[in-house]
Amino acid sequence: MKQLDAQASDETSRQRVATRAVDTLCPYCGVGCAVTYVADVDHNRIVHAIGRDGAANAGRLCVKGRYGHDYASHPQRLTRPLIRLQNAYPKGQLSPMEQRPGKPGGPVEHDAVLPHFREASWDEALQVVADRLLGIRESHGSDALAGFGSAKGSNEEAYLFQKLVRAVLGTNNVDHCTRLCHASSVAALLESMGSAAVTNVVRDVARADVAILTGCNPTENHPVAATFIKDAAAAGTRLIVINSRRPQIADYAALYLPIRPGTDVALYNAMLHVIIRDDLLDHAFIRERTEGFEAVAEAVREVTPAAAERICGVPAADIEQAARMLGEANAAMFFWGMGISQHTRGTDNARCLISLAMVTGNVGRPGTGLHPLRGQNNVQGASDAGLIPMVYPDYQRVDDPAVQERFERDWGVPLSPRPGLTVTEIISAARDGDVRGMYILGENPFISDPDVNKVREGLANLDFLVVQDIFLTETAEFADVILPASSFMEKAGSYTNTDRRVQLGAPVLQPPGEARQDWELICEIAQRMGYPMAYDSVADVFDEFAACTESYASLSHAALGLRGRWYPCSNPETSDGEPIVFGDAFPRGPAMLVATRFTPADEQPDGDFPLVLSTGRVLEHWHTGTMTRRSAALDTLAPDASVELNPTDARKLGISDGQQVRVTSRRGTITLMAELSEAVLPGTVFIPMHFREACANLLTNPAVDPWGKIPGFKFCAVRVEAAREAA
Ligand code: SF4
Repeated sequence: MKQLDAQASDETSRQRVATRAVDTLCPYCGVGCAVTYVADVDHNRIVHAIGRDGAANAGRLCVKGRYGHDYASHPQRLTRPLIRLQNAYPKGQLSPMEQRPGKPGGPVEHDAVLPHFREASWDEALQVVADRLLGIRESHGSDALAGFGSAKGSNEEAYLFQKLVRAVLGTNNVDHCTRLCHASSVAALLESMGSAAVTNVVRDVARADVAILTGCNPTENHPVAATFIKDAAAAGTRLIVINSRRPQIADYAALYLPIRPGTDVALYNAMLHVIIRDDLLDHAFIRERTEGFEAVAEAVREVTPAAAERICGVPAADIEQAARMLGEANAAMFFWGMGISQHTRGTDNARCLISLAMVTGNVGRPGTGLHPLRGQNNVQGASDAGLIPMVYPDYQRVDDPAVQERFERDWGVPLSPRPGLTVTEIISAARDGDVRGMYILGENPFISDPDVNKVREGLANLDFLVVQDIFLTETAEFADVILPASSFMEKAGSYTNTDRRVQLGAPVLQPPGEARQDWELICEIAQRMGYPMAYDSVADVFDEFAACTESYASLSHAALGLRGRWYPCSNPETSDGEPIVFGDAFPRGPAMLVATRFTPADEQPDGDFPLVLSTGRVLEHWHTGTMTRRSAALDTLAPDASVELNPTDARKLGISDGQQVRVTSRRGTITLMAELSEAVLPGTVFIPMHFREACANLLTNPAVDPWGKIPGFKFCAVRVEAAREAA
C-alpha cells in the first residue's frame, strides 16, 4: 500500500483533497485485474482507478474495474445490525418486484424495507444468531441447517465459512454460486483429470494456432481477457467461435458456428467423428495419457456432420472445417463459459470439450489447454477452499473416511460423512421444511437462483435466516437478523482468479458505521456456539487453509506480494508459479475420456411456449445488480432490462424495437422492453439476469444437470407478446 498524502483532483467538487493510493484488485470478474484505487481520505470514498501491471491485465481495465467502485460508498450501505420486527411476520417479500410509476426499478426499495427491522447492538444480534442456530441444531439435527457462502468473498472467508458449517453447525449443507456457473465443468474436469482448475492461463492464447471459444462472451463477461484473445487473433491465432447468441468477439473469428441452444453434444461429437475418421489424432497422447478412447470412438461412429447438422443447425461443411482446423493445429486452446455449463446436460458438454482436447493432444504444452472462464472474482478460490457440499478444501471428498479422519483431527470435532445438499436442493429442502435454519453470507439467491417463486417459498418457510451482507438484498427481506459486513474495498484477503493466480486484495476504505469484517463475524458466531475459532489475522487463516490444501501449500500471504502467484508454485521465493500444468501427468493418472450422447434439454418449446430463452450478463452489470446498480456510471450506461429478439420473430409477433413486451414461461411472466437484434438466432431470446423488476429467474427452469447439479439457465421455453399499454 502506498501512502501518497498528495494533493489530487476530486472528480466532482474539483477541490484539493488528501488522497491515498492502494494497490489491490478489481472486485468483479474472474480475470482478476490488478488495480490501484485512489481514495479521498477525508470522505472515505474512491475517486479513481488506475490499471496496474498485473499478470492477468498488464494495466488494462474494463468499465466495471475503472468506474464500478462507488457502490462501496453508497448511502444504502448497512451500518448497524438489524433484527426483524414481530409485526413483520409471517415472513415474506417486503417490497414489490415490478417497476412502478415514480419508482424506476432497481434493487430493493430500501426505505420501504428498513422499517420492518429494528437496529440492535452487535452483542444482541450475534447472540440471537448463535442461540437460534443452536436451537435448531438441538431440536431438528445438524442437517436442518445450511449455509450459502460467496464467490465474492476471499479465500480466507470461504475457508472459515465452510469450517463453521461443517465443524460447528455439523452438516455438509454448504454451497455457493459455483453451483450456478461452472459446477458441471468442475464435475467433468475432476472426473477426467482429477483437477478442476484451468490447465493454462488466458494469455497463453498468444501461443495457440487455434482457439475455440464456445458458449462464452468474453467481450462482455471477461472483457480484459477478451482483449488478449483479440490481440492473439490479430497476430495469427485463428478463432473458432461457437454460440447461439453471436458474441462481439465473433468479429475476429476465422470461423463462426451459430448453434441451436442445447445441442452442443451433437456438434462436438461430430467434430470428434471427423477427427477420428480423418486420423487427425495424437496417437501417442491418447495411448500414454488417456483411457476410454474406444468408448468415445464408438459413441461418435454414427454422428456424422450431416447427422449433427440436423440437430444443431450448424452446416456440415462448417463442422468439417472446424474439426480440421482443430485436428491440424500444432497448438489449440479451449475457452468456454456458461453457454456450456448452464445446461441440464452441462457436464456432458464439458466432457466433449475435454475429449476434443485430449484426442488431439492439446493439453499441457504452450498454447494448449482447457480454460473454463471463471465468472466471479473468487469462484476458483471459494471452490478450492471447500465451499462445496461434497468436498473439503482441495476437493477432498467428505465421504472418504481417511479424509474425514484427517479433518476431524485438525478441527477437533466429529464431522458428518454425508455429502451435503447443493444450492437448489437446499432451497427445495427449505420449502419442504427439512432445512429450517440458514446462514447466507454475501449471496442473493432470491434473484440468482432459478424459479424465483420457488425460492420465495423456501426462504419464507425458514424458521431462522441470518443474512450477512453490505446492502439490504432481496434475500435479506426474508431475514430474521441482518449483519452489516465489509465490502471488498474495506478488507484484506486473498483471491484466486480464473488463471489459478492467488492475489492479495487490500483495504482501501474504512467500513461504514458499525459494519464489521466478515471473517471476524464468522469466528464470533462459531465461538458463541461453543467452538473456538480465534485468529490474529487473515494471514493466519490463510496458513491454516494452505496447510490442508496441497495446491496452496507452498504459499503464504507474505510470499504472494503485490503480484500474487499461480498455483501450483514450487517455491514462491524464486518462482511465479505454473502458468501451464499437466505437461507430464494428470493428478488422477491417465485422463478419463467419457462417451456422451446427445440428450435434449429438460423442457422443449411447444405451441404455447415456442421460443427458447437464454439468460446471462451484460458488460456493465454484475449478477444480481447489488453492486453495479448502485454504481452511478454503470447504472447510467445500462439502466434497464431488455429482451433481445430476432427481427424475424419480431415481425411475426408484430413487435417493434423498444416496445414493452411480456415474456412468459411455464413458471411466470415479466414485462420489459424488446430490443431487436440479429445476434440471437430466430427462435431464441436473451434476457440479462441482473434486473429485479424484470427478473429473468422468474422464468427459468429449476431442473438440474445430474452430475454437476447446475440449473439449465441457458434453456427454457417462453412466449413473447406485446404488453398492453398501461391505462
Ligand atoms: S475484466 Fe473483470 S477483473 Fe478486469 S476490470 Fe473488468 S470486471 Fe474487473
